[in-house]
Amino acid sequence: MVRIFIDPGHGGNDPGAVANGLEEKNITLDLSLRLQALLEADANVEVQLSRNDDSDVGLSARAQLANDFGADYFVSIHVNAGGGTGFESFIYTSAPTETATYQTTVHQAIMQEIDVTDRGEKAANFAVLRETIMPAILTENMFIDTASDAERLTDDAFLQSIALGHARGIAEIFGLTI
Ligand SMILES: [Zn+2]
Repeated sequence: MVRIFIDPGHGGNDPGAVANGLEEKNITLDLSLRLQALLEADANVEVQLSRNDDSDVGLSARAQLANDFGADYFVSIHVNAGGGTGFESFIYTSAPTETATYQTTVHQAIMQEIDVTDRGEKAANFAVLRETIMPAILTENMFIDTASDAERLTDDAFLQSIALGHARGIAEIFGLTI
């Protein structure tokens, strides 16, 4: 059994970034539920989400849930803000080599599914990356405050492509059939 923990960023009283009539928390949950469905096509996969609805979950609680679940991989899904366009991914600043290898696999799989600017594979001292004990990645999917990016985030086919990219990368790492 391969255990994948999916963390939809923000939720409840924390909407995340808000712009162009969109709230980050809703997009991250949408993408997470799509990813869950794609991964569960393989009967050997068990998925747990940090939230299944619009609820508040603290950052440390998210990491603890994943640790308690015994996750093989942790995927935190976010939408960027602050001006820019495209996709980027993060691992913890002092992550082991395996985590960096997984990042490359997932990052490239996503870039193969969506025709957007590649902002690169990055590292940051984010709580959910620091406090999880398994390999972990955080993805920043387009910019909610860039009108052209926001427009794409309302497109069902585009959202599915983002989720499919995540799923294909994870499937490659763990030998899943999705
Ligand atoms: Zn976020």
